[in-house]
Amino acid sequence: MSRSVRALRLKLSRHAGFQTYAGSRQYRSTFAPITVLEALEAISERNPELNAFASHITPAEANASESSEGPLMDWPIAVKANIATARSSVTSCASRALYAYTSPFQATVVDSLERAGAAVVGKTNMDEFGMGSKNKFSIYGSALNPHTPALVAKQDGMTELDRHTPGGSSGGSAAAVAAGMCRAALGSDTGGSVRLPAAWCGVVGFKPTFGRISRHGLVAYGSSLDTVGIMARDVADVQSVFDIVAVPDPLDMTCMTSSLRARIKALASSRPWITQAHGPNRSESAPLAEIRVGIPEEYWVNELSEPALESWRAGASRLAALGCEVVSVSLPHTPSALPAYYALAWAEASSNLARYDGIRYGRRSDIRPDTRNLQNASQKYANTRGEGFGAEVQRRILLGTYVMSSAASEHYFTPSQKIRRLIQEEFDNVFALPNALSATQPLALSASRPLGVDVLLFPTATGAAPRLSDQEDSRVANYVNDVMTVPASLAGIPAISIPAGHADGMPLGLQLAAQYGDDDLLLCVARHL
Ligand code: GLN
Repeated sequence: MSRSVRALRLKLSRHAGFQTYAGSRQYRSTFAPITVLEALEAISERNPELNAFASHITPAEANASESSEGPLMDWPIAVKANIATARSSVTSCASRALYAYTSPFQATVVDSLERAGAAVVGKTNMDEFGMGSKNKFSIYGSALNPHTPALVAKQDGMTELDRHTPGGSSGGSAAAVAAGMCRAALGSDTGGSVRLPAAWCGVVGFKPTFGRISRHGLVAYGSSLDTVGIMARDVADVQSVFDIVAVPDPLDMTCMTSSLRARIKALASSRPWITQAHGPNRSESAPLAEIRVGIPEEYWVNELSEPALESWRAGASRLAALGCEVVSVSLPHTPSALPAYYALAWAEASSNLARYDGIRYGRRSDIRPDTRNLQNASQKYANTRGEGFGAEVQRRILLGTYVMSSAASEHYFTPSQKIRRLIQEEFDNVFALPNALSATQPLALSASRPLGVDVLLFPTATGAAPRLSDQEDSRVANYVNDVMTVPASLAGIPAISIPAGHADGMPLGLQLAAQYGDDDLLLCVARHL
């Protein structure tokens, strides 16, 4: 069935009051749905200004494409440029090294979405290979935050650098959702790249538990941290996409098996102290009455702005009003998370990006050195990699290689691994639910409520989106943007950013995090908040 016929049928079925589809839970979005054709109209109107898409399909292509009927029928979805899509679009990772690369296979997540009826409307702008927080390290140039009105930009004589960043690295995906150019978007989150841009663009950004969504077809940055994440205007739409893509995948050996998923489900539903939040007898006035929320003391960092603090307080009060018990908790190793993250992510990146040598993958330099001696032959690799990678990626490859060298690993790599383990243990200590990965915990929990919290609440970033020109010279200040997001990445636990107020007209985000595997409870609390 062609897309326009399907769109019509969908419109009719909405009139007839059909809200659910056989075989799938439906979460009702508070927003009017965006159809594929509406998204493509918005793209042609807004993308020239926002630069959110690296490539997109045309209405004619959308009409000609066949797709299945399913729970995501006629959902326009944007996909980050580091997730492989097979048909007619490049998987460039916003890098010169892969600028014309088309993948011979498609990511499992994209297959799942298409099978459910969704249409991929385009590939989104990003920081090269996912490395950055402002979407400015990109061969396509920066994407812009839709919350800076273009007219104001002209009247004030602002240059493009004075516009606000959408955040990164999945900046194009967040901008696309915020500007109505898609209904949901896929991004990747290694240390915060879904949550940070979601917060800065005023949309929802969800990083599930590590291993929950297949990464087959996601181009690797830091393999022990990389996750596929979901963005949408509200939690209901995020959940609808999550239900489709959070399935086992034999093509990804790091994707949770069915038996681990079953174990997690059994554990989460055996919590005697939480019955209401999921159950039919939920109280209208206090729907989260059995949930205990932790406020981690160590997240009160110096860099936290007054509006972010205010939004955090308001979020805690709101959860209390929904019936939650709000308590203070301590995660003492939080201050070490950022340096540990960067040491580990760079080390993994230096090894993952070794494959872009112009032979196995990537464009090859045209400069022809005299290859009669060996030194000149290796010059070919140096030219290829020097031309293919941008300055930030080169810096990280060099530092990551150094971090793993025999001279430096005991000072950087090994301590960072230890810090990571301590951070994981600290999270296990504050959550009431045991970690499903620890072998010793009993499957049947005691009837009384244990000490410990069900979710944690803290800001997604220290403030609202900076202008592209801010912090221009300070790399460290740029890395500090990730201070609130990397601990959950190191621990592999689920975390979600939801819109929570504004500072000078720019959106702020609040983050909720939960125990490993407790994604459903996290989404439930986020939906209420
Ligand atoms: N900003 C972080 C980094 O540059 C996070 C990136 C990500 O999550 N892909 O490493």
